[in-house]
Amino acid sequence: MITCTRKVQFDAAHRVMNHESKCKMLHGHRYVVEATFAADGLDELGRVIDFGVIKERLTNWIDNNWDHNTILFQEDRALGDAITQQLSQKIFYLPTNPTAENMAQYLLKTVCTELFPEPNIKCIRIRLYETPNCYADAV
Ligand SMILES: [Zn+2]
Repeated sequence: MITCTRKVQFDAAHRVMNHESKCKMLHGHRYVVEATFAADGLDELGRVIDFGVIKERLTNWIDNNWDHNTILFQEDRALGDAITQQLSQKIFYLPTNPTAENMAQYLLKTVCTELFPEPNIKCIRIRLYETPNCYADAV
């Protein structure tokens, strides 16, 4: 099988609601996403998908929705509303707690499914680094 992977980096704040330790505090990360694609066959030029197409769709989506934003669990509205009021800043609400695992899963199942509707091209893995030493894989 041949795959291709594009890396996307972004900065965001989050917190993990009900975390037992310091991850319940609002804090930030330099996130790194590795999005891996596979296709039924290579195109006439020999590609799974053009790297520029991944940039145009996925990098732009991340830039517009997650970069320099605060990512919160949708049940974390009290904090989100306070941030919005104080800073006039919008919040990106996830349907789940914004752990690396849940964020990777959201990118794979929700975002990439919508951004890459072609039946012959599929995002097969999202690896999301929360720190240089820690990442989660959604497959
Ligand atoms: Zn964190």
